[in-house]
Amino acid sequence: MLIRADAILEAPGKIHRPGQLRIRADIIQEVGSDLKPFVGEEILDFPGLTLTPGWINLHAHLELASLHGVLTPGKDFPIWLKQILGCLPGLTPEVRRESIFRSTQNALRNGTTSILSITSDIQAMAGLTSTASRVWWALEFMDLQNPPEVSPVLERAMAWLSRNPANAWHLALSPHAPYTASPQLYREIAGLSLRHKLPFTTHLAESPEETAMLGGKKSSFQDVLPKEFHRNDFQNSQSAVDWSNRNQVLPSGAILAHLNEFQPSDLPYLKEREATVVHCPTCHEWFGRKPFSFDLLKENKIPVCLGTDSPASSGNLSLDLRAEARLFREWHPHVSAHEAWEMITTTPAHALGSGLQLGTLKSGSWADWVGWRLPEPREDPIPQILESHDLAEVTCVAGKVVHHEQI
Ligand SMILES: [Zn+2]
Repeated sequence: MLIRADAILEAPGKIHRPGQLRIRADIIQEVGSDLKPFVGEEILDFPGLTLTPGWINLHAHLELASLHGVLTPGKDFPIWLKQILGCLPGLTPEVRRESIFRSTQNALRNGTTSILSITSDIQAMAGLTSTASRVWWALEFMDLQNPPEVSPVLERAMAWLSRNPANAWHLALSPHAPYTASPQLYREIAGLSLRHKLPFTTHLAESPEETAMLGGKKSSFQDVLPKEFHRNDFQNSQSAVDWSNRNQVLPSGAILAHLNEFQPSDLPYLKEREATVVHCPTCHEWFGRKPFSFDLLKENKIPVCLGTDSPASSGNLSLDLRAEARLFREWHPHVSAHEAWEMITTTPAHALGSGLQLGTLKSGSWADWVGWRLPEPREDPIPQILESHDLAEVTCVAGKVVHHEQI
């Protein structure tokens, strides 16, 4: 199939004008400016559109969209946690599936084609036969009470995935956070992620209360966690990263959601583990966190991506990564539009182990692209697209047009 548009942004600084993409099944075969149709080849024309790689949201909870506007923002994280725990009984598989459907549609219309989504209830996925976007289902585990059966759950999820081969679905693994998952559970999940080559992600260093708890100090977590709860590893750690290092819980390539709290002494371990950090600006604002130490991570060459987190803890119901990029650049004005673009394309693609398939529109990449109608096309469309509030006009995932705004 040959797709023709006004322009195709293969990667920042590499634009084909006019642009054509040749795809076979879900893979881009060729990209260029003078590709001619083969005899009998199907042609899709998108006059006036600029095609770009679809964006990647590296931290979301697709199943929680129904909690948008339900919880009260505030600085105290355990109080928020207490609120969400109270909402869990109402999150039936049907409610979660409806949230997943709505969230993936919203994300697509705003240019995101891939989402790493934390999934705390595998039953929510039963009966789900498709999503509009590509999803990495990160199976979440905790062992506050009984140890979970990680391997059997993973095997069931792998079998479920193989029964849905038409979907652009993948798996990942996620111990929830240091205060709900023990070092043993972390290490078990880290081992499985290495064995099955699955992305590993976890919530780490999200709040000062977490740092206090891991250091053995009093924190309001004590009011939320079960009364009989006791962990020997909650002592002496200077930070959540220090706790991770002491307990050797992170596999190489771990994707760390938040990292709002860390110290310069944590940087060597993060580097050694080749960790990627996911910063969620609208969630950061929602909780009123202290400024995110982006420059320190950047100076130490620790990759940082952008995510939305869930609408239960941010105002970003539409999972629009442009809103995250705008807020992020407001706080870090020296960050260029191209740098922000990399944080939602090539950097998260690499973190997912899909650097060759995602984040660019090169020959050999997955055919995940987005068509934008720009009022006044300029040589470099990236700043314009990131500033725009308009919906994407066309979105394609795995070679299939999954959303088209115009009829
Ligand atoms: Zn989260």
